[in-house]
Amino acid sequence: MAVPDATIQLQNLKGIWRPIYAHRTALHSTADAIVLAAWRRDVRGLDLTPAVVLAGEGADPAWQHRRRAAAAAVVGVLTAWSWRRTRAAIALAAKRAHRAGWAAGYALLSQDHDDDTPYSGEPDSPYTIGSPDMDDHRADSTATAVLTAALTATADRAGRAIADTTDDDPTGDGEHIVDDGLDLVLLTDAAVSAAYGAGMLAAYLGAGTRSVIWLTAGDGRVCPRCSDAEAGSPYSLLAAPTLPQHPHCRCCLAPA
Ligand SMILES: [Zn+2]
Repeated sequence: MAVPDATIQLQNLKGIWRPIYAHRTALHSTADAIVLAAWRRDVRGLDLTPAVVLAGEGADPAWQHRRRAAAAAVVGVLTAWSWRRTRAAIALAAKRAHRAGWAAGYALLSQDHDDDTPYSGEPDSPYTIGSPDMDDHRADSTATAVLTAALTATADRAGRAIADTTDDDPTGDGEHIVDDGLDLVLLTDAAVSAAYGAGMLAAYLGAGTRSVIWLTAGDGRVCPRCSDAEAGSPYSLLAAPTLPQHPHCRCCLAPA
């Protein structure tokens, strides 16, 4: 069943979508900034020399094997390191995103959709079904999942750089890749979207909403996967596709 005028039109936001996407954009840039800042502080003093030595010892002539050995050596160093600040920053970002998603969902439920005035996102917060808040356990496991994936992806790239370099100092190439935190930012973005989507669903669940529609950004760059998700609307609350469908997905779930 097609939903007429479903898309959000990110290029020309109207009514309630204006404050919702203003919040959401700010949410993502703040999350990226705090998580990356925490990573940059945590990374201080990290030394990949042991990994380079280890990778060099078994030096296999085949480049695939060299890369794999280097990545394994780097991941060993990275996982032994303390990422206390990064872990806390990811957990905080996930909690904020859940609350922001809840507030957006609540606004979509309770506010006239033509109304573009800012809404408040400060509800009471018991940890129950439909709660605006993500509980600590879920925030911590989100942080662990993001961090683990980020360390693995970073080690792959750093290992590749170490194995492929012709530089006298392969450690520097690897450390540069660790410092940039690119994988972490990408994975944080996905985790923030997922928490935002979960917060929206919590608001709908709490309000007894039966079904939701998937809304794409409607800006001509929407991928087939998200278009299909939109075309498949409406969904029952628990059968709806989850945010994000891919990195940097800017879709949304609205009450049907
Ligand atoms: Zn999307």
